[in-house]
Amino acid sequence: MPQHLTTTGQSPVRLGGEMLGVAEGSPVEIVADVSNLGESLLVDATVYARVSGQCSRCLAAIDEPLEVRVNDVFGITPDFITRDGVAGGDVDEDDDFEPLFVQDDMVDITQLVLDETGLTIPFNPVCDDYGHECAEDTPSPDGISGEADAPDPRWSGLAGLADSLEDSTDAEAGKDA
Ligand SMILES: [Zn+2]
Repeated sequence: MPQHLTTTGQSPVRLGGEMLGVAEGSPVEIVADVSNLGESLLVDATVYARVSGQCSRCLAAIDEPLEVRVNDVFGITPDFITRDGVAGGDVDEDDDFEPLFVQDDMVDITQLVLDETGLTIPFNPVCDDYGHECAEDTPSPDGISGEADAPDPRWSGLAGLADSLEDSTDAEAGKDA
């Protein structure tokens, strides 16, 4: 019988791309089934988190739940790979295959989750990926002139800050009068 484990924590790394991803340190929940195969552990884990970022087309904020599932075998003894006969099988696409091991009674699924989210989270996310329509003022589809005119996403936070500073200045002025 697999052992059912649930754990929560903070993502030790950023997952996903520059436009959209799970921020380092943001909360994640992991639900895993772990089966002891004798020489190894079979880990089947589902990671729940939230991706946040921006649509690469209209720059609308994206904040959506993310669910990725990973599973792999972690060796308990150093020779589990050869005993399983994996090394002797068809490994044509596994030139850089590196066996995973249980270390200090823990399995590290970070790399598995990184790989999986790299495939799952769109590198150039658009609203449509999450079932939303893009904002009205979408740049022309050829994108060349539109992209040049689009505000640098890095400044959007500063723009909001400027607005709030203006507001507080107005309030100060009102108080003085
Ligand atoms: Zn959009």
